[in-house]
Amino acid sequence: MPVLFVGHGNPMNAIERNEFFRGWQDVARRLPRPAAILCVSAHWETQGAWVTATANPPTIHDFYGFPKALFDVRYPAPGAPWLAGRVVELVRSEQVRQDPARGLDHGAWSVLVAMYPAADVPVVQLGMDTGRPGSHHYALGRQLAPLRNESVLVLASGNMVHNLGLFSFSDPKPQAWAGRCDEELRRRIAARDHEALSEPESLDPDMRLAVPTPEHYYPLLYALALQREGEPAVFFNSRVISSLSMTSVLIGNALQA
Ligand code: ZN
Repeated sequence: MPVLFVGHGNPMNAIERNEFFRGWQDVARRLPRPAAILCVSAHWETQGAWVTATANPPTIHDFYGFPKALFDVRYPAPGAPWLAGRVVELVRSEQVRQDPARGLDHGAWSVLVAMYPAADVPVVQLGMDTGRPGSHHYALGRQLAPLRNESVLVLASGNMVHNLGLFSFSDPKPQAWAGRCDEELRRRIAARDHEALSEPESLDPDMRLAVPTPEHYYPLLYALALQREGEPAVFFNSRVISSLSMTSVLIGNALQA
């Protein structure tokens, strides 16, 4: 099974039929049908590592000030307690704890409504302890590798460049530093420079602006950690809006379009 990192951006992407929504639709068509999805989302920050073990995860509307139509979205995919148990079993470096009640946040469902609109693929989320360094998340991601042979799609959802404080709705053209950081990250991903990518602040002084807090960046490390030797990393939805990069990465060999 290939692995995905998606830039999710604005939650409105879930209901606007825009280029990003179409990009998510297209990429899903190029994947074998997964038995289940393990989503690592920017929007579940935890102390220690956690997985959702919810049988029927509710849709969490974890944002404010958006139209009612967005709050009306429900993504009723079943959970997969068996997959939660499998994650607990695979991660040897620490005890992953199971949350019996947590639902799906918009980092997961805003993308999944496009990818699997029937909501018929079970979904589990993995919570990230964002107090830990990038190397910790990369190492944790490596331990999930067997899932790729078990028809589980690992869907990492964040944004490689994400600075809402500097975001401008009135001027969506890429800010110079944001464009440069997106390009540098794409260059390093293409070069498979995972060690440097695990410490983004080491890459360029402007990364302080691109990754002011780690939660939208760290999901990328889970996807990279699962890249096998010699496997391609193909970019899609590669666009920078103001101070936000939607750049997404498909790792592994997809089906022909
Ligand atoms: Zn987000």
